[in-house]
Amino acid sequence: MNATIKQHTFSLRQSLALPFLALFFVMISVWAWVFYANMVSMGRQMEQQLAASLNSRVNVYLDHLFLEAVTSVNEIHRLYRAGQLNQRSEEEQARQFATIMSSQPELSAINLGLEDGRLIGVNRSLANGVLHTSVIPKGAQPYREIYSVSENGQRDLFVFQEPIPYIPSKRLWYRHAIDQGKASWYPIYRFAQGETADLIGNFAIGYSMPLFDEQHQPIGVINSDIALGQISRYLKLLPLGEGGVAFIINEQNQIIGISNDTPLFRKQSTGGDEVNLQLVHFNNINSPVVEAAGERLPQGDAQETYITVNDASYLESVHSFKTDQGLDLRVVILLPEKQFFPTLKANMQTMLLFVAGTLILGIMLVLFAAHKLSKPIEQMTQWADQLAKGNWALPSSDNDPEKLHDYPIKEIRQLRNSFSTMASSLNETVATLEQRVAERTAELELVNSNLSELSNTDGMTGIPNRRKFDAVLASEWNRATRTGQPLVLALIDVDWFKKFNDHYGHLAGDDCLRHVATILKAKIRRSSDLVARYGGEEFAIIAPSINKANAIEMANIICKTLAASAVPHAMSPFGVLTASIGVALIVPTLDIEPETLIQAADEALYHAKDSGRNQVVFADIKIAPEDQFFESDIRFEQS
Ligand code: GH3
Ligand code: MG
Ligand code: MG
Repeated sequence: MNATIKQHTFSLRQSLALPFLALFFVMISVWAWVFYANMVSMGRQMEQQLAASLNSRVNVYLDHLFLEAVTSVNEIHRLYRAGQLNQRSEEEQARQFATIMSSQPELSAINLGLEDGRLIGVNRSLANGVLHTSVIPKGAQPYREIYSVSENGQRDLFVFQEPIPYIPSKRLWYRHAIDQGKASWYPIYRFAQGETADLIGNFAIGYSMPLFDEQHQPIGVINSDIALGQISRYLKLLPLGEGGVAFIINEQNQIIGISNDTPLFRKQSTGGDEVNLQLVHFNNINSPVVEAAGERLPQGDAQETYITVNDASYLESVHSFKTDQGLDLRVVILLPEKQFFPTLKANMQTMLLFVAGTLILGIMLVLFAAHKLSKPIEQMTQWADQLAKGNWALPSSDNDPEKLHDYPIKEIRQLRNSFSTMASSLNETVATLEQRVAERTAELELVNSNLSELSNTDGMTGIPNRRKFDAVLASEWNRATRTGQPLVLALIDVDWFKKFNDHYGHLAGDDCLRHVATILKAKIRRSSDLVARYGGEEFAIIAPSINKANAIEMANIICKTLAASAVPHAMSPFGVLTASIGVALIVPTLDIEPETLIQAADEALYHAKDSGRNQVVFADIKIAPEDQFFESDIRFEQS
């Protein structure tokens, strides 16, 4: 296994809960997204519908507005052609105009200008709708005389004479009509200045119609003005909501009306006291939204786009408006998307609350289910852990698998019961096994001790064998080395035994050896002394902590007892079975080997044989203080 590879493991709880939670999150997110997208699309639809309805309202208004201008010009033209104007004074004609004007509430002025400098006109105040006639009578100086008009149009009251000269044929509406040679719409112009402008307004557009005589020479021009303020006033009334803007532009991209208070004119000083007013081009206007809308003004009859100004998104709805007389305008409606946000926001908030609630509930449910499912498995895992550690008792308290007996999930209950059965049968098996192992161990121990006894015992005589002798000699040697006590070794050899075997047979020889062993065991001085079969017909006694006299005495007793036991030995000069014994005593030290003792006892035995057998010889070992032992140092004593 590569230790650097980390394998992630998940708990059962995590494995159960994570996929569900992930699925849940994905579902909720998708759902929320779809909901949000729907809301946005709904908002946009509402916005587009509103824009469309506003556009059609403006359309209807413009239709009506321009129809008023055309109708009134046509009416005056009809009157003029019918010869119903010229017979009267200019003031009377102007009053007639006022009557026509009062049925055309949107118009700002109607004028009849003539080549000879006469002017018959009526103006409507932008501020209060009050009508004033303005007249330049025949042969008079070119200054307009302004009169107020009473309710029924009956009486004029002179108000003032305009200080600025007014020459009809020099007015834009006049020249435009003559140039065009037919009735047409003229572009924006400044239709009043100074005091008059205060009274009726500044800029206007309008419709003018030339009058020609039979030789096609110009006689005069009829016009009808519509003050831009009038159009703006209407647009201001539109329900555009907060931040919404509506404006109308002409072919020259000049704004002829706007719903907000953006000034359409700019004051320009001419150097003197007079202040000149300049019309502002729409892409130079003091309104970022209008400017941006103008920059991206879509082409075509009707267009809807979304524009972004200062991080705010607007629906820009553009519809074109055309009249039969060639007027070509475009109506622009800008609706900020955020206008629809409050409704959207309220809906989103409700939805978010709902989503959050569902999410929390879902998470709780998933966690609860995961807990319910994993808890019993965890309990059983802990139980199995305990079993693995050999703890057979059921876990208590919290993790008590006993409680799973009533668990509502069938499979878990079954698993628990199977587990329980398995655990108890395992328990029984282990108990039986343990008992069997104990029995076998006891048996084995017995066999082992028998075996070890056997391996240390001489089979024929039943006394310890040479192997045991070696082990005891080594351990007694060590002990004597430590304690400084003497250690005695006696080697016993049966005399003329070959001859005994030859004479009496081997089986009888075996009996003899068992007899000797019995005597030896009986005659040792202490139970701790060891009697062993040294090999063949030779025996050995290891006697620790015994002195020389006692050792010799013990050996003599053995010799005498054997002879006295009177086992017949026809081939021995003694007539009975005898043995010779070599005894050696030593105080072991670290520099001396046990072989020294064995060698000394063996040499003593040799001396006993040599001296006639059936006797004891003691080997007195003399050890030079520093040097090693030499053979010449042994002195033998017969007894
Ligand atoms: P010596 O007095 O010098 O000891 O003479 P010996 O005959 O006893 O000595 P030797 O070493 O010549 O002979 C030993 C004999 O012991 C030879 C062998 O047959 C006999 N012997 C050795 N082990 C056994 C045994 O287990 N059973 C019998 N029956 N005889 C044995
Ligand atoms: Mg021998
Ligand atoms: Mg012998």
